[in-house]
Amino acid sequence: MANISEEYIRKCNSWFDGKIHFPCNSLRIWGTIYPNGDVPLCPNKDIILGNINACKLSDIWKSEKSKNIRKKYYSCNGCWNPCSRRMEIELVSIAKNKIPKYFLKSYQQLFEL
Ligand code: SF4
Repeated sequence: MANISEEYIRKCNSWFDGKIHFPCNSLRIWGTIYPNGDVPLCPNKDIILGNINACKLSDIWKSEKSKNIRKKYYSCNGCWNPCSRRMEIELVSIAKNKIPKYFLKSYQQLFEL
């Protein structure tokens, strides 16, 4: 198993203490597909956006329904999402000088602690 940085653990603790708020990138940069083909907004919400047995994943991903749900839940902050938070924290920490400012803006809290 890869090492988990101290920064990741520190930020995780801050999130649990209610001190930081992150944007949600579910169905923006990552997604979930259940074994039955259902594509939820995320594993934590009971919101199904489509099923890959009925249509293409790209159509589900780009649908108006998905766009509206993504927008609605962008500021959810309802979970500490291990699969995306770790990647976001590690990547942004490593490459923050090369990432566009508009993207970094939504992660300002990562670097203000
Ligand atoms: S922040 Fe909210 S919408 Fe996003 S993955 Fe967590 S529970 Fe789901």
